[in-house]
Amino acid sequence: MTELQSYGLRLADASTGAPSRIGGAGPSDHKAVTVDGHTIMVPVHTGTAAASPFFADAPDASGRITLKRASVPIANISFPKQPRFYALQTFDGIPYSHIATLHGNDVLATTVLQTCIRYEHRETACQFCAIGQSLVAGRTIAHKTPEQLAEVARAAVLLDGVKHMVLTTGTPPSPDRGAKILCDSAFAIKAAVDLPIQGQCEPPNDDKWFARMRASGIDTLGMHLEAVTPDVRQRIMPGKASVSLARYMKAFEAAVGVFGRGQVNTYILAGLGDTRGAILDTCDKLIALGVYPFVVPFVPIGGTPLEKHPAPTPEFVRSILEPLGTMLSRAGLRAHDIKAGCGKCGACSSQSTFEK
Ligand code: SF4
Repeated sequence: MTELQSYGLRLADASTGAPSRIGGAGPSDHKAVTVDGHTIMVPVHTGTAAASPFFADAPDASGRITLKRASVPIANISFPKQPRFYALQTFDGIPYSHIATLHGNDVLATTVLQTCIRYEHRETACQFCAIGQSLVAGRTIAHKTPEQLAEVARAAVLLDGVKHMVLTTGTPPSPDRGAKILCDSAFAIKAAVDLPIQGQCEPPNDDKWFARMRASGIDTLGMHLEAVTPDVRQRIMPGKASVSLARYMKAFEAAVGVFGRGQVNTYILAGLGDTRGAILDTCDKLIALGVYPFVVPFVPIGGTPLEKHPAPTPEFVRSILEPLGTMLSRAGLRAHDIKAGCGKCGACSSQSTFEK
């Protein structure tokens, strides 16, 4: 699975499985693939994927798909089907799929605010980010209202059995850095349906927002470091790097006090320039604070400044995930125990398979 996520997958039939998103936030240019009962997001539209040794045959008459590596069959795989809620639309004609999408096989995910103060200017934008692409392409709307999110969440639970929800957001120009918008959204969703929610934003200016988010119905919090070394942060995400690592660490500590041990997560992208040692060192500090670090192989998304940046080798990714799995197990932090969000879903990384 680690190799499949690093190299990507070529498809005999591009229409197999649910349609994949090109651009946007989160796992863009990917398809969800189920291997050995474990659903992972695998790059299918990237330059790396086009040269991958992995190839998926078209489904046979019984719907079975053979995964080959260098022409040798190695496994049977399947693709989660298109969710039923995608067929619906709101009273004002917005397709539900423009409001939220299915990630993995049981996660509903949305970018509440599809605009970002960082993304608007080349000199501040995160180099890996494609948040504006799906908006320009008309595949989403700029601001999902609490009412729209509640309506779609309810349908996704009833029709497709989604188990948890991710609310991420572009960063607005307000000092709460998106916390308020997440509060308003979670409050409306929880009033409509009982669904565990992860909110994801930059650390807000005031730690009081953590208690407000918890009270609004957000069960777990993601504040994503992405890169961990100051010079890599400055180079890859110059705008976001203005929020210091020290501020992130203080915010993590305060958030764990509110959400609980293991219920605060951070995404770390392996392959952007941070060394194995720097990533593991940071993970060690995060685990000591009770934060679950989720290390994900970087995927170069088409149309971003990093589209030609190489994906990390599976050896590099495994050299981090193997010891990290042991560190997490020793600390008693497990993906399985997270109530909602990326760490629980785990589809963007094979990390949880290394946890004992
Ligand atoms: S790990 Fe997060 S971003 Fe990746 S598929 Fe799961 S919910 Fe989506």
